[in-house]
Amino acid sequence: MRKPKLRGYGFRPSQTYSPKEIADRMGNAETTVREWIRDGKLPAMTNGNPHLVLGCDITAFFAEQRLKAPRLAVDEFPCMHCRGPRKALGGLADFCAGPGHLGTLTALCEVCGGSMSKGVAVRDLPRLRAIFDIRARGASRN
Ligand SMILES: [Zn+2]
Repeated sequence: MRKPKLRGYGFRPSQTYSPKEIADRMGNAETTVREWIRDGKLPAMTNGNPHLVLGCDITAFFAEQRLKAPRLAVDEFPCMHCRGPRKALGGLADFCAGPGHLGTLTALCEVCGGSMSKGVAVRDLPRLRAIFDIRARGASRN
């Protein structure tokens, strides 16, 4: 399982790409890419079909997206359901130890009740315990 490279994204600056190619490479839905073009967020050559986008415009677009991504406060999770940084319902979170020094903190969204999670480092647990009522899953009884 390889994740797409975050830097450079592998688009050639002077080559053009169709929405499907962009979607495949970036892991978005093709309809999402078409929406970006329709909304004018992603500059495209719209005189042909499919609309083609220059590699350099794609790279600039995704770089900007990353910058705009909301920075999460330590007590916030990214909620995929109602989209945005959200606090944990009741301040409750579950910690599930992952490989190495990493784990996943899971909580319910304060706004929509959906399940949210984020990766955390085990060394941050003491700090996180001060914020959340953390229940550890797995072997550790604490
Ligand atoms: Zn939510």
